[in-house]
Amino acid sequence: MENKSALSPEELMALSPEELRVIMEKATREAQAQFDKMTPEEQARVRMEAQKKIEESNASMQKMIESARKMLAETETGTKEMPKFCTNCGAPAGGGKFCTYCGKPLINA
Ligand SMILES: [Zn+2]
Repeated sequence: MENKSALSPEELMALSPEELRVIMEKATREAQAQFDKMTPEEQARVRMEAQKKIEESNASMQKMIESARKMLAETETGTKEMPKFCTNCGAPAGGGKFCTYCGKPLINA
């Protein structure tokens, strides 16, 4: 039964929000029931471990958001930084960040 409650990320992604809610509620109830049977020392330890796991998952979530943001920013600036002509003097852009003719930044702010 241990294996049954441990779903892979792919399996979790395939679940509907309702199914996910039911699973979460069941897991919470089971955890609470186990928790109630523990001694205060065990409960304190479990709380600490749970806190650590939350912090770890928050940190990895933060990393994922950060890299997604970076990827998005790179795609955005990638298209923004490539005007074909200088907006100031109309000279063809050499592919750099500044106009080779008048020196004006080619990035559209
Ligand atoms: Zn120019």
